[in-house]
Amino acid sequence: MAVVKADAYGHGVIAVARRLEQEGVDWFGVALPEEGLQLRNAGINTPILCLGGLWPGQDSGLVDNQITPVVYKTSQLEALDKIGRGRGIRVDLHVKIDTGMGRVGIPFDEAAEFADAARKFSNICIDGLLTHFAAAENPDETAFTTQQIDRFDAACEAFRLAGHSLTWIDLANSPAAITCPAARGNLVRLGGAIYGLLDDILPPATERPELKAALSLRSEIAYLRDVLPGESVGYGRTFTTERPTKIALVPIGYADGYPRGLSNIGFATIRGTRAPIVGRISMDWTMFDVTEIEGVTEADEVVLIGSKEGEPTAADIARLVGTIGYEITCGITPRVPRVFR
Ligand SMILES: *Cc1c(COP(=O)(O)O)cnc(C)c1O
Repeated sequence: MAVVKADAYGHGVIAVARRLEQEGVDWFGVALPEEGLQLRNAGINTPILCLGGLWPGQDSGLVDNQITPVVYKTSQLEALDKIGRGRGIRVDLHVKIDTGMGRVGIPFDEAAEFADAARKFSNICIDGLLTHFAAAENPDETAFTTQQIDRFDAACEAFRLAGHSLTWIDLANSPAAITCPAARGNLVRLGGAIYGLLDDILPPATERPELKAALSLRSEIAYLRDVLPGESVGYGRTFTTERPTKIALVPIGYADGYPRGLSNIGFATIRGTRAPIVGRISMDWTMFDVTEIEGVTEADEVVLIGSKEGEPTAADIARLVGTIGYEITCGITPRVPRVFR
């Protein structure tokens, strides 16, 4: 399953989904019903699992568009069963079991009871069971991950005993799919692995397939200024030049999702050379010190996120602002044009 929630982690969901559909993925995973509908409206025919919330009133839209809901409450079974009866069909759905993530899902020790209660709904088909790991990437948590797998196996058993067919068994997100073969079931739900964003998710020593970042973030120098020593740059006067300095203005700011937290600590590469951010990042502009970059000129390309040697990665930026690479790419706002190659 290719997880394409949140605009494909900021990459641009329609183009990403079209390409992955050509590549033959079996499922798409989204968080919200709206995200599933967006894919269907774009002509995506591959099965879609709606992993996250399902609010009253959204169920019929899912059923009519063949988007499979994940449920974890009896009230949701009831609502879907009613829709199924009205349409004279059995509505396929998957059930989420909480085996230790401590988020949504049927508590693992109530799985048997739920599976039994679900038998009375004749217009639904529980066609899959899933769970989510809390710390699969952490070798220190292997015992807990194993316990999650055992609890999930027991839940699958209980559902099968209650007569539910369970075509799809899925446990693993990207880190679990890579580090824990026992968790692969017959479907894995891959987000970060597809986008090449696992640098700061998997511990450095983890054996992993070679993954390349799918995304780069590029701009260009809009304006070059020569500044005398002793002049301040940008809002709040947080940076003052100490030498004759060449400042490049680049038209990207926090309104584009370039984190303001990178002010005075981030960097980009220009002509293959590291250029530090100076002063505060503003809504639309960021300033770089390019004094050391030989031959620098307006319209030079600025690599804000790249993957070549020396270029900042999403993980590098994330480390500087105290988050993970996923949040950096998810945060690139719609104002930034997506170009697909
Ligand atoms: C987002 C999500 C995933 C994908 O996680 P990655 O770490 O990006 O692979 C898998 N399963 C569920 C339920 C999710 O919400």
